[in-house]
Amino acid sequence: MNRRDFFQKAGLGSLALSTGLAGSCVNQSPGTYADKNFHINKGYHQIPKLRLSMDRIVKETVGLRPFRPSGPRIETEQLGSKTIVHNYGHGGSGWSLSWGTGNMAREMVLATKEKKVALLGCGTVGIATAILLQERGCEVTIYTKDVPPNITSNLATGTWSPASRVCDPKVAKPEFQAQWEAATRFSFRRFQFLLGMNDIAAWVEEYGVYNEDPKSVPRSNNGGEVYHLDGLIPGSVRLSSKEHPFKAEYVSRRSNMIFNIPTYLRHHLNDFVMFGGKVKIHEIKKLEDIDALPERVVVNCMGLGAKPVFNDEELTPVSGQLSCLIPQSDVQYKLSTKGANFVSRKDGIYLGSNGIVGNWDTTPSKEQTEKVVSILQKVMEDMKG
Ligand SMILES: Cc1cc2nc3c(=O)[nH]c(=O)nc-3n(C[C@H](O)[C@H](O)[C@H](O)COP(=O)(O)OP(=O)(O)OC[C@H]3O[C@@H](n4cnc5c(N)ncnc54)[C@H](O)[C@@H]3O)c2cc1C
Repeated sequence: MNRRDFFQKAGLGSLALSTGLAGSCVNQSPGTYADKNFHINKGYHQIPKLRLSMDRIVKETVGLRPFRPSGPRIETEQLGSKTIVHNYGHGGSGWSLSWGTGNMAREMVLATKEKKVALLGCGTVGIATAILLQERGCEVTIYTKDVPPNITSNLATGTWSPASRVCDPKVAKPEFQAQWEAATRFSFRRFQFLLGMNDIAAWVEEYGVYNEDPKSVPRSNNGGEVYHLDGLIPGSVRLSSKEHPFKAEYVSRRSNMIFNIPTYLRHHLNDFVMFGGKVKIHEIKKLEDIDALPERVVVNCMGLGAKPVFNDEELTPVSGQLSCLIPQSDVQYKLSTKGANFVSRKDGIYLGSNGIVGNWDTTPSKEQTEKVVSILQKVMEDMKG
């Protein structure tokens, strides 16, 4: 049975597996209907309080963002008889950019004309890239040290943040911005096709709650947050004191995307296997291990694990701690304030997160959790209603 027959027999013939799927989504232009009055008739009571105390924290994690000052490494390298396609080093934006840089890696693989592909790594970047390759008829085997939940991608907040710690703009080459924009646009479109599937990706309201004008506070400039692309997520709207329950001078709201990480990864891994993909637990310790693989084309999506194997001196961890509260079905928003933020996912309400450059220690700090809990407790205590 050929691949086309397989899809038809499986009842999947109409599933949008070609890249034409992505092209059908139209970018939004800034609208004339601001959503400022969205809640006006219903009042602000739609913003429920968190049930927040230290004894409701059920999990603390420290994940290591794979950060490269020049930006993610998306390029081809020839090593003996193997063509290596690198796709790693996404910093704090690997979830957001996974489909976009995966698409770039796919183009590099397709240029080799090889159909049997080895893919190293089973994080969000590797899984997205593997699926994109399958959609163009490649036979993909994932070789990986670990699978979810034992990977960095499982320790992320899971929000649309394509510029978060993606590079150091002082170090990144000028052409990186265009590459980032192309990856961001591709990913954004792809996520719109993942809506409504058991909420693996969803839109939520995001509140900014500050006592001083966040615009007057100098932005951290070392993470790539300076990159911005108009026309994707709606703009932020400042709310008057009548339109929100918070005790703060500067309150804003915007809509943003979140990713429900456990179900998202499970969904995509299941799809990968359903379309004939294989996953093998196999650690790559040195280049000779790659040479020994049967496939001639190898896509490297090992995140921070690429550092020792490819001797990448640029690649460095930026650790981030998250503290997970018991989920609360009525709380379905994201909030950022000075020194803390939270996002409500299906599997918990994730409080955090900090960023320590060069820190390899993944031991959670009680002090960090207490700090974030106390900042957010104050925001909740001060809320009206
Ligand atoms: C606290 C925190 C919050 C974050 N929040 C966000 C967010 O809101 N939005 C966002 O877009 N991004 C966020 N990120 C960043 C995001 O999580 C990462 O950029 C992303 O997970 C990187 O994915 P990856 O697939 O490249 O790496 P990983 O998830 O680390 O996967 C790497 C894979 O390679 C395998 N591997 C490693 N070494 C080897 C080896 N030697 N041999 C074989 N296999 C190997 C691993 O087992 C794993 O399967 C956050 C990160 C952290 C830590």
